[in-house]
Amino acid sequence: MARPENSAVIENHNGISNKLLLSLSKPALDLIRSQLEYTELPLGLTLRRPGRLYERTYFPNAGVVSLIVNTQDGESAEVGVVGNEGMTNASSAVGLRQSPLTEIVQHVGSAWGIGFSPLQQILDKNPEIQRALSQYAMFQSMHIAQIAGCNRLHSAEARLSRWLLMVSDRTGSNSAAATQDFLSTLLGVARPSVSRVARGLQRIGAIRYARGRIDIANRKKLEAKTCECYQIVSRLDFKEH
Ligand SMILES: [Zn+2]
Repeated sequence: MARPENSAVIENHNGISNKLLLSLSKPALDLIRSQLEYTELPLGLTLRRPGRLYERTYFPNAGVVSLIVNTQDGESAEVGVVGNEGMTNASSAVGLRQSPLTEIVQHVGSAWGIGFSPLQQILDKNPEIQRALSQYAMFQSMHIAQIAGCNRLHSAEARLSRWLLMVSDRTGSNSAAATQDFLSTLLGVARPSVSRVARGLQRIGAIRYARGRIDIANRKKLEAKTCECYQIVSRLDFKEH
């Protein structure tokens, strides 16, 4: 029998693997589920840009979204990541539609999306959902503060190690797509320095670095190279507090 054109979407509608949604009680999950729409997260998709009122909040099932600060002179720095532990546009949890952050899909996946107005109606109606999403938004702001400090204070080698571990924790994969341009943004260093840092980690057997891709070869060695920010952010994101 011919499969309907959108069969993949229909099949995926049955599954929620976002941990923030799954932390809700069944009545609360049923309430918000009725307003969720499934969406793919292709690599490079911009979910929001600064200066615009955003319309949708996404709860990733899989994949990684980068939270990025852009300056007026065209520079940018990553200040956080969101995977299936959380939500994008986190300030919508407290009724805000604005944020200075750009949100871009850095690792392909899928998500459940909800419009701003339906989400606000649900939050007004259900204290459990309001508490869970507000708490997450607060933890995400702590995550962003920690990474902003890390970007200022820790070495490019420690930050690349941290980023790889954070992405791996969210994707369950030891492989991350990472062009030199993106790594240059991530680390705030010129492209030749990106190669030097990656080669250093490769030399000690922590990673394998090829064009556009990094594989974790030895997680223990990578953990030894990262800074304390990795553990601090992990505790915030995965609720080990
Ligand atoms: Zn750090």
